[in-house]
Amino acid sequence: METEAQEIIIKGLTASPGICIGKAYLVDSKGVEVVPKYRIQDKELSNEVNRFKAAVKNARDELLKIVEKSPEELQNAHILETHMALLKDKMLYGRTIETIKQENVNAEWALKKVVSNLIEVFQTMTDPYLKERSADVVQVADSIMHNLVGTKKVNIAAIDKRVILVAQDLTPAETSQINLERVMGFITDRGGKASHTGIVARSLEIPAVVGLKNATASIRSDDLIIVDGNSGTVIIRPAEDNLVRYEERKINYEEYKAVITSESKAPAESADGVPLAVMGNIELPEEVVALLNYGGDGIGLYRTEFQYFNRPDFPDEDELFDKYKDVVEAMHPKPVTIRTLDINGDKALNNQFSAEEANPALGLRAIRYCLIKPQMFKDQLRAILRAAAFGNTRILFPMISTYFEIREANRILDEAAESLEKDGLPCNRDIEVGAMIEVPSAVIMADIIAENVDFFSIGTNDLIQYALAIDRGNEQVAHLFQPLDPAIIRMLKHVADVAREKDIKIFMCGEMAGTPHHIPLLLGIGMDELSMNPQAIPDIKRVIRSLNVADTRSFMKEVLKQKTAKSTIELIKDTYGNILAEQLYSG
Ligand code: PEP
Ligand code: MG
Repeated sequence: METEAQEIIIKGLTASPGICIGKAYLVDSKGVEVVPKYRIQDKELSNEVNRFKAAVKNARDELLKIVEKSPEELQNAHILETHMALLKDKMLYGRTIETIKQENVNAEWALKKVVSNLIEVFQTMTDPYLKERSADVVQVADSIMHNLVGTKKVNIAAIDKRVILVAQDLTPAETSQINLERVMGFITDRGGKASHTGIVARSLEIPAVVGLKNATASIRSDDLIIVDGNSGTVIIRPAEDNLVRYEERKINYEEYKAVITSESKAPAESADGVPLAVMGNIELPEEVVALLNYGGDGIGLYRTEFQYFNRPDFPDEDELFDKYKDVVEAMHPKPVTIRTLDINGDKALNNQFSAEEANPALGLRAIRYCLIKPQMFKDQLRAILRAAAFGNTRILFPMISTYFEIREANRILDEAAESLEKDGLPCNRDIEVGAMIEVPSAVIMADIIAENVDFFSIGTNDLIQYALAIDRGNEQVAHLFQPLDPAIIRMLKHVADVAREKDIKIFMCGEMAGTPHHIPLLLGIGMDELSMNPQAIPDIKRVIRSLNVADTRSFMKEVLKQKTAKSTIELIKDTYGNILAEQLYSG
């Protein structure tokens, strides 16, 4: 049936700036193309069954590799055993084969059907242990499905058409797999303002809009869509006039970007002569080129977890060292702040090293995870200390929430340095060590933590999440994710004051630092360094050059009198609205 191609405009949250126009390509929430159903002829049935058996065998081989590679993971052995058994279980394996043969359907569809039925059965069970086993069924089925689909090359990394991805959700790991020569941008139903998926999109420099709620319901593959990452707008099946207007906007925006990027190479200094380092956040070593192009004065946050995704094991020390050394050498003499592993939360590894958690954001994340895996942690620390022999390196510990954690992290760092000396490997222990301040308890304990580090780096993405109790990745509460809430501003002020009192440096690397209208406030608080997604650097340098630090200090006094985010926003608009408007792209 032909349907009328009507233009629809939907609004979401801006995740990454820029405009793209192209054909939609729908993927499901696991990054696999929506499971297709097709008929298998009788004479092809045994081939289809064999294709399924081959996928199970591959999934089994992957699992075996994981078991072999993880002698210290004995605590997980029962999970692996369960998974191994499930792969050949009659209810899953046997029934999928039966379904293929009886219904003449493809293996993916048969597997999906069998799994849905099984989950329903598990959910009706009263025994909580058995009920929870449905998670194992899902994981095992996923690994078979990925092998099935993988053989047909329709995973995200293998998309070979020039398209815009449309998904219910994408994990940061999936997003990092996007092939930039193919995918122009992406949009998702879910996702909040500071989700890691958006962060990855910005580092890939592709336009993205998240939190659209019902994009996947309104868009079909091959529909023409416009994604405006600057305003969070998506236009589905655009009418001719909008198409023309957005083609023009796209050109204007790209011209504006080229101009500000060329002036961004020089260091930023305020109008009254106060210099401020504007650094970049990176996720992958390959981003160094873009960061330098945007005029980054160094790397204020190297999120190292992306090297741990999309693989069944942990990278070893030499592999990590090679990557870190490349980054440190390419940036030299500019500083590189390497943050230790911050996995879980919304950056789950999705392998057997991560158990499913009911509240991942409050779970075994970041430094907590590292402290229970000392060998893995030490491998990373040794790699960082070795890379530090090749250039200006700092080390940063994420999600510190207690004094104990920073003390332990430093102790293991010392052990790593001693072991390197014993091994006679070149390294440098004489580097600055910092703590991320992103949990309210760390704000309260800042004076104690300060005695154990050389700098603080405030992670506002998590600080806002944990202080205001707003899931950073949830579109339902995205309107409440408010960096300018007076509670947050007071925390920033407190941490900055403690840093000055204790004579350590104070940096910010959360997304708040890369938002132009926050800059008067951050200058007023007295940040020593700001770090952001590299694309934001030119705008931020422009704004810094137009401001007077002395004025921002008195402005801060007014800010601290505000009782709501709304009045703070009004105050910023009244005081700096005109200056900001003059400096920035207005669309
Ligand atoms: C933060 O929380 O602000 C931060 C910079 O770290 P991440 O976004 O990686 O959690
Ligand atoms: Mg964080």
